[in-house]
Amino acid sequence: MRRAGAIVAETLQLTREMVRAGVTTGELDRAAEEYIIKQGAVPAFKGYDGFPATLCTSVNEEVVHGIPGSRKLCEGDIISIDCGAIYKGYCGDAAITAPVGEIDAERQRLLDVCAEALARGIAQARPDKRLFDVSSAVQVYVEENGMSVVRDYVGHGIGRNMHEDPQVPNFGRPGRGPRLTRGMVIAIEPMVNLGGYQVETLGNNWTVATADRRPSAHFEHTVAITEDGPEILTKV
Ligand code: MG
Ligand code: MG
Repeated sequence: MRRAGAIVAETLQLTREMVRAGVTTGELDRAAEEYIIKQGAVPAFKGYDGFPATLCTSVNEEVVHGIPGSRKLCEGDIISIDCGAIYKGYCGDAAITAPVGEIDAERQRLLDVCAEALARGIAQARPDKRLFDVSSAVQVYVEENGMSVVRDYVGHGIGRNMHEDPQVPNFGRPGRGPRLTRGMVIAIEPMVNLGGYQVETLGNNWTVATADRRPSAHFEHTVAITEDGPEILTKV
């Protein structure tokens, strides 16, 4: 799983470096697919429930599951890049949200809050904690900052399958949920909206967008729970 996680991290780093005004989401996707295959791994999303691409690319008000294609990124956009890979039968899954050139202060704050919410969730991923301690840490920080967490999509256990039990919501009451134990691996993935938490699926039946069309950010890491605390498997 460490190698699967590293491949995902490297792919995200590579695509992040390509992000600029004028690049298409399809170009990011092709680079990601090529890189993953070159590492002897398999893109995990391609073909998953019929998803047609290696990356999910979700721009501005799109939350998750955006399909890469001919859309050109514009100065001031934010783009969530979500990537999964399977190496020797084990999965890695991570996401980043990157600015395209200069972005406004509100969007920068959205990215900062979402990234920090992920860090706070990860800090709770320890053997002495319960699952919703992770959820609560994310929710409290996001709401303290006047933003909202998406309810309809959640993080997940991960291993031989991309999505395993337990579900890892970004909201919940501390001290509740299953105990976290050494050897568990979970994907923690706050989806944070500048406006309300409501989302809807667009006409292509994949892309999820905010109902109020205000911007959304998404950061994700695959995290192993070890005796010494959280180990991020998708860190570069
Ligand atoms: Mg995930
Ligand atoms: Mg993901």
